[in-house]
Amino acid sequence: PIQEAKLIWRNGKMIPWAEATTHVLTHGLHYGTSVFEGMRAYNTKDKGVCVFRNREHIERFHFSARVYQIGMKYSVEELMQVCRDVVRENGLDSAYIRPVAYLGYGEMGPASKAAPSDIAVAAFPWGAYLGEEGLKEGIDVAVSSWRRFAPGTVPAGVKAGGNYLSSRLVSMEAKDRGFAEGIGLAHDGTVSEGAGENLFLVMKNKIITPPASASILSGITRETVMTLAKKAGYEVIEQTIARESMYAADEMFLTGTAAEITPVRSVDKLTVGSGDRPVTSKLQEMFFGLFTGETKDEWGWLDPVA
Ligand code: PMP
Repeated sequence: PIQEAKLIWRNGKMIPWAEATTHVLTHGLHYGTSVFEGMRAYNTKDKGVCVFRNREHIERFHFSARVYQIGMKYSVEELMQVCRDVVRENGLDSAYIRPVAYLGYGEMGPASKAAPSDIAVAAFPWGAYLGEEGLKEGIDVAVSSWRRFAPGTVPAGVKAGGNYLSSRLVSMEAKDRGFAEGIGLAHDGTVSEGAGENLFLVMKNKIITPPASASILSGITRETVMTLAKKAGYEVIEQTIARESMYAADEMFLTGTAAEITPVRSVDKLTVGSGDRPVTSKLQEMFFGLFTGETKDEWGWLDPVA
């Protein structure tokens, strides 16, 4: 269950958590016309409670709304401030932040441009998405029988509610079969991403991840990890990945706001590499070091809420 906080921001006002409800004829509920973000706030050593990469998330939120023409009544700056306010006013010291915008109540039909948009931002505590143990020991994953949507169908690079029907099928199937997460292949059978995470392989000290054209969401954690890896001197390559490369990789890990950097211990029941994970561990150390102060935030990624 969701760990409830006190207040949710909606359409310009902070309202009590329980009052953030909506009508059953909300457009977004019928046609999937919603876009959202998943962000985290961390209690950092040097700057107190901070939203991580606030601007990049809110910019992606605006982009997603633009594609589906869901009216965005608030600027990037305004919504960044709302994210800070929601965390601070709920007294949270670490939080998952969920901005959502959807076409609301007022008109039916998928092409409606008259349905008003509702915009809300909630924040609540949410621990390690793939488990604390998963972060340390790695998780067992399996390739899904469900493919990701092909280019030219539903845009994978947009973070819209409807995209998560794919994530649900991929992830449910994996969990029903006893795996922690499912890996989606792209329409052409090459590797795409996890149900809610981007995917990386380490092969002979090179770090490889599928390109945007492989039906991925261009994750902000993905970009964070690529930046940290280059800083540490690794070669980082975006390239098409054949399924069998996962079975040949030295290391594999998944990245996402919720999943952070989660190592993969096995894929399709085959142990990844030798089981050692020097590169993944190094990247985890650098990533979590941003919050403990051990990694210097040269990029301005930490945005204090107060
Ligand atoms: N792919 C999918 C399908 C996701 O839902 C997410 C989580 N938002 C990611 C990748 C990772 O994106 P980010 O690092 O921006 O959270």
